[in-house]
Amino acid sequence: MTMLVTGATGFIGSSLVPKLRQMGHNVTALSSKDYNLLEQAEIRKLFKEHSPDTVFHLAAKVGGIVANKTTPAEFIYNNLGLNTYFLEQARQAGVKRLVYLFCGCAYSADSPSPIKEEYLFKGLPDQNAMYYSIAKATNFLQVQAYRKQYGLDWISLIPGNAYGPNDNFSDKNSHVVPGLIRRFHFAKENGDKSITVWGTGSPVRDFIYVDDVAAAMLLALQKYHSDQPMNISAGKGTTIKELVELVGKTVGFEGEIIWDKTKPDGHHVKIFDVTRMREELGFEPKVDLIAGVKKTYDWFRDNIDKARL
Ligand code: GDP
Repeated sequence: MTMLVTGATGFIGSSLVPKLRQMGHNVTALSSKDYNLLEQAEIRKLFKEHSPDTVFHLAAKVGGIVANKTTPAEFIYNNLGLNTYFLEQARQAGVKRLVYLFCGCAYSADSPSPIKEEYLFKGLPDQNAMYYSIAKATNFLQVQAYRKQYGLDWISLIPGNAYGPNDNFSDKNSHVVPGLIRRFHFAKENGDKSITVWGTGSPVRDFIYVDDVAAAMLLALQKYHSDQPMNISAGKGTTIKELVELVGKTVGFEGEIIWDKTKPDGHHVKIFDVTRMREELGFEPKVDLIAGVKKTYDWFRDNIDKARL
């Protein structure tokens, strides 16, 4: 198949693109440097130059809490903008199959766990990234609207708390797994006696290794044909305390762990219902958290010069 991946050099794209190429597909892997997806004329040019029959649409403007709080208009503008002309041009170019990825953050902040796909739009997302989350949820509605009106086989998936190589390891705005890996690594390197981690340790998250997200996306491309979104996750909870202990052990940091309770815990328990994923794809993640954290740390140590710090 002739495939196009937007956001191909990002976190999920970096895992997905090599898999597509191994399968023998002809893949155009685009980053933000190739075409400006906010300009309709450029998108038209893109489809003229590549004529894909399948698209993985992963391009998005992402950022941490501080960026989300200080530049909400940019998150709305970019994430709605990246999708609006892109989907219309994809339709006009006859793209038959499109896979859109959004985020667990689109669910309301007080969704009970396990979070079922039906809970989407039952309340407002967490305040900290509300504009981003609503833009991404609106992008899902856009994909669904094209499917309904034009009969296009376009689908949307919601990954859980994904982690792995090529993630954002920045000190200020990373998610918890890369944030801890970075902090533990440098604490060990510096011979620090203690390390500070956020919150109380009691929140529960549902982690999935990036290669499992990519594997599920490939299966969804083959098997999933619905206007409803599908959660892609492990469906299992791990407390932040357990995660902190695992990362500490993996990195080999033996100092004291100090919990900074002034930092927010966020959503208390966030576990995704993966019944639909199991039934529709027959999929179970292959990489458990112990193996996944080790793979991620090994990658981080070996690629520290090119990791997003
Ligand atoms: P989200 O809350 O599901 O969006 O995902 P995060 O990856 O940001 O996980 C947040 C949870 O991990 C919260 O309970 C935080 O208090 C806790 N946490 C502990 N240390 C860190 C850290 O260094 N970075 C982040 N992002 N979260 C941390």
